[in-house]
Amino acid sequence: MAASSRSKAGRFVKKSVAERNSRGTENLLRSHAKKKEAKEQRTFIHEVGRRVVDLTTFAKNMWCDACGEVLSLSHMEKEVRRGLASVFYVRCRVCLELKQVPTDSAVKHDDGYPLYSVNCKAALGCLDTGIGHEQINSWLTAVNIPAIMHSTIKRAERFVGPAVEEVARESCRDAIQEEKELTLQSQKRPLAPSDAQNRCDVGETPKKRRPCSSQQEDENVATRVPKSRFYCSSTANKLRVAAAVCQKNRGAAHVVEINQKCGLSPGGVTMKYRKLAEERRQKKCALQQTVQFRRRRLLLKGNADRVSNRVVAREGLTYVSGMGNTMERAVAAATDTFGSWMPLQKPLEDHCQFVIVDIETTGFGAGAQIVQVAAKCQMLEFSQYMMPTTSFNHIASEKTGLSVHGGQLMYNSKRVDTSPPAQVARDFMDFLHKCGQQVILVGHNIVRFDAPHIVKWLHQFGVTAEFCDLVYGFTDTVPIIRQGKVQKQDLLAQQYLTGPEWQHLVKGAHNAATDCVLLSGLLEHFNIEHDIMRGNALPIRTFFERQQAAKRRHITRDEKEWYGTVWD
Ligand SMILES: [Zn+2]
Repeated sequence: MAASSRSKAGRFVKKSVAERNSRGTENLLRSHAKKKEAKEQRTFIHEVGRRVVDLTTFAKNMWCDACGEVLSLSHMEKEVRRGLASVFYVRCRVCLELKQVPTDSAVKHDDGYPLYSVNCKAALGCLDTGIGHEQINSWLTAVNIPAIMHSTIKRAERFVGPAVEEVARESCRDAIQEEKELTLQSQKRPLAPSDAQNRCDVGETPKKRRPCSSQQEDENVATRVPKSRFYCSSTANKLRVAAAVCQKNRGAAHVVEINQKCGLSPGGVTMKYRKLAEERRQKKCALQQTVQFRRRRLLLKGNADRVSNRVVAREGLTYVSGMGNTMERAVAAATDTFGSWMPLQKPLEDHCQFVIVDIETTGFGAGAQIVQVAAKCQMLEFSQYMMPTTSFNHIASEKTGLSVHGGQLMYNSKRVDTSPPAQVARDFMDFLHKCGQQVILVGHNIVRFDAPHIVKWLHQFGVTAEFCDLVYGFTDTVPIIRQGKVQKQDLLAQQYLTGPEWQHLVKGAHNAATDCVLLSGLLEHFNIEHDIMRGNALPIRTFFERQQAAKRRHITRDEKEWYGTVWD
């Protein structure tokens, strides 16, 4: 006990310290013994497995330097592994000289560590196929070939990387040159579609690619930089995108070009296989251009669509690409609107007044916002602008002449006064009250376009109940005044309101206030009786019922079908 309670220097120490010291020593001794035992037990054959050998190099090295006798692997004493390559230490059975036999040729030596071409080619293969270190080791060990260390494959990757990028850059330059020539030629004759389209674009040079790819993007990049493995922040991302560009521009044979560029042998097997692959790709490409192929593809797509539509009809929508947007709409459809609330339908009264209503919006879809509300009831007129919080659809903006510049709402490049939406809603309701005890809103395509927008807008300010109390329903003038195929209001106005007093108004079509006056003029022109307008009115309860039914089906169909896109 006394001996063990002293330190190495012979000083007395605490018992706990002495015990710790002795434990450390024991562990060290044990591990030394284990290593020694393992070394003694290690017979080369047990863990030999398989190796990747360059047969030419190996055969050249299997001769004794001293006596010229052929060497035998059965006299191998040691193996030093360098990634996929190995150096065998073989003793000559004649002169007993120990010879180092590498299984592969080295391309360069850094700090005494040779870099073997098989490792460089493995790194290039990883870039080309899009697999990483983990995947290549899984594959190798499955074939019973020893795994490569991460540092080895990285070192090889850094060696081939510049060549990959160089080839990618060259291929892009060639593609630009080719495109230039084709463009020049196309000024003389129409451009052959197959040539230019099959090349990587100028914008796709390796430096300009986005850092991560998705399935929708170019499949070449998606294969090499898959989302499932994180390469975005590493230098490998750049190399992998460059490899994708090479594949796109140069085809499968780009590997041979890269091999030559970084001083590796082109590889007979590589060349043969890549050439065949390239031929296969070109054949497939040519086949895909044929009319028969395209017809069949459309047929199969149609069949698949029918099957999926049947499934959707049976089970509801389970998945679509861009699901997030759909889910948002589904949630909005479920929560945003009026729930199960239904207005009570009041009977139609004799003194019911007709109010012509028109709105201008930022766009065509359900998400568009109202910018202008106008109404007209005999001599009473109402028109107010609101500042939208979403941007304008450029087609809608062009039609209406409304746009936002520098935080101001402009109508035909002139600033117009806007009011807060809540104020406009209040004023609009006050205007309707002024028109009569009960009103029918009249508009061109009002049921599909204006009414849903107006109801949604008023709902935000809590006046839906008041609105439904006042409004009997909506009369759509499209079926009443359409003349054969001519049904758009601006076309009808152009054709039938030819008097000089209409001229300046017809030019101002697509302003809500002007449109109200024009519609009033058209109704007058066609002598539409009030009874016809009453008979065509869609009661507000029916309108709400239709809206709710539409919302229930909303998620399975495109919203365009439910919120009309016809511009009145
Ligand atoms: Zn010898």
